[in-house]
Amino acid sequence: MSDKFYTDLYINSKWIKTSKSFEVKNPATGEEITKVSFAGPNEIELAIQSASDAFKKWKYTTAKVRCEKLMNWFRLIMEHKDQLARIVTLECGKPIKEALGEVIYGASFVEWSAEQAKRIDGSIINSPLANTEINVSFEPAGVVGAITPWNFPMAMITRKIAPAIAAGCSVVLKPAELTPLTALYLAHLSELAGFPEGLINIIVGDAAEIGNRLTTDPRIRKITFTGSTKVGKLLLTQSAETLKKVSLELGGNAPFIVFADANIDEAVAGLIICKYRNAGQTCVCANRVYVEESIYDEFAAKLKTAVANLKVGNGINEDINIGPLINAAGKQKALNHIKDAVSKGATLYFGGKDMEGQFVEPTILTNVTDDAIVSKEETFGPVAPLFSFKTEDEVIRRANDTNFGLAAYFFTTDYKRIQRLKSAIESGMIGVNSGVISVENAPFGGVKESGTGREGGQLGIYDFVEAKYTMNKF
Ligand code: ADP
Repeated sequence: MSDKFYTDLYINSKWIKTSKSFEVKNPATGEEITKVSFAGPNEIELAIQSASDAFKKWKYTTAKVRCEKLMNWFRLIMEHKDQLARIVTLECGKPIKEALGEVIYGASFVEWSAEQAKRIDGSIINSPLANTEINVSFEPAGVVGAITPWNFPMAMITRKIAPAIAAGCSVVLKPAELTPLTALYLAHLSELAGFPEGLINIIVGDAAEIGNRLTTDPRIRKITFTGSTKVGKLLLTQSAETLKKVSLELGGNAPFIVFADANIDEAVAGLIICKYRNAGQTCVCANRVYVEESIYDEFAAKLKTAVANLKVGNGINEDINIGPLINAAGKQKALNHIKDAVSKGATLYFGGKDMEGQFVEPTILTNVTDDAIVSKEETFGPVAPLFSFKTEDEVIRRANDTNFGLAAYFFTTDYKRIQRLKSAIESGMIGVNSGVISVENAPFGGVKESGTGREGGQLGIYDFVEAKYTMNKF
């Protein structure tokens, strides 16, 4: 398959080439894929104004029209899914099968949002005042500023753009500069889908400058962001002056708990998909694995057998399970976490080798102590640290001993324990006997410093609307 890249900015349904450009590299080979235009102040302004003009018209479209345009986009994405998957793998490194999974998963948010566009219904409230009626409707929040990360170059975009459009909003999107090509290909497909001028605008450039403009410009009413907690807090602070509606999907530190009564094989399979997918570079991936003492050795041995089967290499090859880390800094962080844990008493039970290029061997650490950095910070690499625990109360306390609360997982066959843990674990999402949690019709999001707002499900659309009521006297 020959690759077609879109490399200019997409503003007001036009492709804009700028004099300045930047390189996009393949993390598996270190080679340049292509160069992409770089937005300066003029392009940022043009994108905001275009979205603002488009909003004034899109706001008045019917739900049926929004649904039709989104369904067109959905079908085009599915028709081009192999091409999109290749671009995802080339720019972010994840294995091609995972990339295809991401494209289909990303597309499902477009289909779901298209369907939901027709169901943003209001209500009539019984009024306490005589001869009056109160109508409640949900209106689009306004122009949306969206900023997305590199680890899901496709899905983090559709998860934001599709519900925004369904709700009647227009969008200025800044994808990660490490992975802009998937975003620009999606823009091309939106053109084919018949999106009106300026409905979505895609700019890449200096992240801090664009972030600052999007969060401070009064024409933008809603900010939606997926990325680090540090940047999320900055965007929230910057949005305060113009009091925007803000959704943040930030970092996690997911506990993965395996009780002695669990099906151990299922728990191992759940951990493999949860921990090693995208080489551990997902915000919902297990970061701390707590295994009950009595099954600790058996679990570790079975995990080792499974991890030994994972093949590391360039993800464009079909048989690869673990691709590269996104950049040298990401690789160094993972290696530092391993080194730190070992220096504090952990055993390097499997892997841990510093491989050539940006690859890190999938790793298992055993006997990890709570003072290791891996127990506090997201590793974002293929490293599973195994901690041992004795009691349910103890593991709940340790699982919650973090500022984050995005995802959590536990494996047990005791139904009463399932109920207790569902309440006790401080997390926006929980996988019970499952290492996979994310689907388009469930509300994805976190608590504590993992963020605010939800993406997907009924609630996902409500992040892009404002309630308005009218008091009618007759
Ligand atoms: P990561 O460490 O996973 O790359 P970041 O939060 O740095 O997470 O990046 C997520 C997104 O936020 C990317 O699109 C990136 O360009 C963008 N970003 C980084 N710094 C800023 C900033 N100061 N203002 C706005 N966006 C930013």
